[in-house]
Amino acid sequence: VGASPAPPHVAVVAFPFSSHAAVLLSFARALAAAAAPAGATITFLSTASSVAQLRGASGSKALPANLRFAELPDGAPAAKEAVPVPRQIELFMAAAEAGAVKAGLAAARAAAGGARVSCVVGDAFVWPAAEAAAAAGAPWVPVWTAASCALVAHIRTDALREDVGDQAASRADELLISHPGLAGYRVRDLPEGVAAGEFNYVINLLIYRMGQWLPRAAAAVALNTFPGLDPPDVTAALGEMLPNCLPLGPYHLLLPTTATATKDTDTAAPADPHGCLAWLDRHPARAVAYVNFGTVASPPPDELRELAAGLEAAGAPFLWSLREGSWPLLPAGFLDRAAATGSGLVVPWAPQVPVLRHASVGAFVTHAGWASVLEGVSSGVPMACRPFFGDQRMNARSVAHVWGFGAAFEGAMTSAGVADVVETLLRGEDGARMRARAQELQAVVAEAFEPGGVCRNNFDKFVEIVCRV
Ligand code: UDP
Repeated sequence: VGASPAPPHVAVVAFPFSSHAAVLLSFARALAAAAAPAGATITFLSTASSVAQLRGASGSKALPANLRFAELPDGAPAAKEAVPVPRQIELFMAAAEAGAVKAGLAAARAAAGGARVSCVVGDAFVWPAAEAAAAAGAPWVPVWTAASCALVAHIRTDALREDVGDQAASRADELLISHPGLAGYRVRDLPEGVAAGEFNYVINLLIYRMGQWLPRAAAAVALNTFPGLDPPDVTAALGEMLPNCLPLGPYHLLLPTTATATKDTDTAAPADPHGCLAWLDRHPARAVAYVNFGTVASPPPDELRELAAGLEAAGAPFLWSLREGSWPLLPAGFLDRAAATGSGLVVPWAPQVPVLRHASVGAFVTHAGWASVLEGVSSGVPMACRPFFGDQRMNARSVAHVWGFGAAFEGAMTSAGVADVVETLLRGEDGARMRARAQELQAVVAEAFEPGGVCRNNFDKFVEIVCRV
């Protein structure tokens, strides 16, 4: 009888920028909890500054006992303050390609008492993990955090470039009917750098190379979607290109909520430092418009003023999460009027998931970042999308024209457009239809995350795959 195999040791490689790292950490926590019965150790790998920030943000919350942290070299010069984020990303990716992920895996091994890494899970953006995993004799299992339709576009980039070429502007409104999985989207909806734009810009190049690596190196791929959301042509196109795609999102539902958790360490519940939930408690059901454009996008000053004027003109209470740097750009007296009448609350940060679940929220004005779209639909809230860059245009197109649980601005917001869409979503007939559609999908998500539901089962499969030794 041979010795029993060593227990699984799964490294989880984060992309240490924007909202990506926090998503991967919450994924790693869910994985640690689910893989504990298999005796698995999970080592979360990110850069020193990202780990420090994430551990600070999780506050006093204890982490699962089988979750460790190890460092991924960031490739940056010693004085980081002066380096703009795109350059930081460029340095990080260059280092990752030159051996930083391999170094990270060695650090993971050291952090786990010498246990060899048996599987490399990671943010799909960090494609150099594919080679590092192969060198370690471990499978690479990427986690895709955005929408399925965007992933199809990234994997099909060569075909899209060949088709669209330099005609992106003249064919902007044309549907991509000859591209499997993309027939519902127009040329203009594609992320910049796919068919047109700066192909060599750091993020565009990173995602392009990721699209090349995924089909040839991924042992399985976690998708941030649930069966029943993506149209059949999108699912079929992805299934052709990627074996073992497992739809198991929205990822934020993998960790139990406060209500169902048995221990504090199991929850993902964020704090509410600005009293958003108490403020929402003071409003009737479905009366409030919630506004947030995520962690990166910022509307230009003129548009911000149009939005503010539109919210006032709509006459509905609003909760607006807006980074403080933008507050001085708001119209004169706007913040004072909102505070004096109680009609609006502007905060630098809101706990978006519980806010969207709150009964008073009836409409969501969003940049259509993928996490936001999923958080909105899994709460049954219809949305108005103002996409800015990257995959946001495709997401907005999906919301308004594929799924029908919201509307999309084509271009900049105007005050009349904002007032109109808020009024429609909260009180109009079209809004009622959009809400009904969002609630239908909310029910599909809820069922998928019940014990024995399809996303729970897919996550179990995922855990089984990554714990094979
Ligand atoms: N978020 C939040 N409160 C805020 C701003 C953002 O909770 O005030 C969270 C939001 O719930 C979501 C994430 O930050 O999970 C933003 O991700 P998304 O993909 O929507 O947009 P990004 O920030 O990546 O553009």
